[in-house]
Amino acid sequence: MPDELNLDKYWAKSLKRPFYIAGPCSAESEEQVFDTAKSLKSIGIDLFRAGIWKPRTRPNSFEGIGAVGLPWLKRVKDELNLPITIEVANPRHVELALEYGIDVLWIGARTTVNPFQVQEIAEALKGVDIPVIVKNPVNPDINLWIGAFERLNNVGITKLAAMHRGFSTYEKSVFRNAPQWEIPIDLKRRLPHLPIFCDPSHIMGKREGLGEVAQKALDLNYNGIMLETHPNPAKAWSDPEQQVTPRQLNEMLGKLVIRQQATDISAAKNELEKLRANIDRIDYLTLDLLAERMDVARKIGAYKKENNITILAPERWDEIIKTRSAKSEEKKLTLEFILNLFRDIHNESIHQQTSVMRDGED
Ligand code: PEP
Ligand code: MN
Repeated sequence: MPDELNLDKYWAKSLKRPFYIAGPCSAESEEQVFDTAKSLKSIGIDLFRAGIWKPRTRPNSFEGIGAVGLPWLKRVKDELNLPITIEVANPRHVELALEYGIDVLWIGARTTVNPFQVQEIAEALKGVDIPVIVKNPVNPDINLWIGAFERLNNVGITKLAAMHRGFSTYEKSVFRNAPQWEIPIDLKRRLPHLPIFCDPSHIMGKREGLGEVAQKALDLNYNGIMLETHPNPAKAWSDPEQQVTPRQLNEMLGKLVIRQQATDISAAKNELEKLRANIDRIDYLTLDLLAERMDVARKIGAYKKENNITILAPERWDEIIKTRSAKSEEKKLTLEFILNLFRDIHNESIHQQTSVMRDGED
């Protein structure tokens, strides 16, 4: 089944490129909201964000100012002529957002994971074709993400966009949420007309590296970026580590390199085609080599079966890891990449050996 969505055909084109969304993680006071919005308006931000209801991991943290903050946002929209976006997580939020003239809604990562909740939000939006941005689910499940777009599209929402905010992992890394770029890239392949934004703030979880993530997203041809901005980040009531001041944001955006789309330049297109042909050739060679390696694994399996030897030899696996890691350094390949690659190759070899051992046993 193709993943085609029925999108408004002017929607993607109507978005300035790059499109910038900024504002505080949470609305805290009328003054904080208005001052931030004024600074952001002056640096040319396209859409002002603020969390009114906050989905917090643990209770007893600040769970958002609630509906009292909505008139503050309405004031920003009316007095500064700056469109507003907020997160909605249930039909009541939707109703209030519409009542206060919120321009764009977004569905948070913890809501996208729940089809019941997404369906309820979709039903509350029936008959209102407001733009909705859907953040990726916290878990790396592209179908859950696509399912949310389909639920919204089924009730008639035709101005949809994706927001890549990274994925939860148990092991802590330099990221608060691992970007797993292959997932949004795959989303773009499956839904080529769907605009996509990146949220470096929730990917990094800290101020360092925000510019690099934003640059990478623009280099991957994303439509825009969302960055959390606060007049005094260290004092923010939520996500203090990752917010930047409007001035820091302006500096960061000033450093971003905006590249043309390759399809606009025919020389680039030709050069890229040549390089891609080379990549294709190398990938097919890699496949041949992998097939050859698995043939050998099956021969080892047959030998072990004949001689009644167990499959898993921990010393051998240890040796593979050591020698391949050393080689990765020499070849200037990332160690983590090589370790993951060989773990997968080794798992498949074991699988191949096991199936040879079982042959004729069923
Ligand atoms: C947010 O944008 O403030 C937020 C809560 O994000 P996420 O749903 O990505 O965690
Ligand atoms: Mn936040």
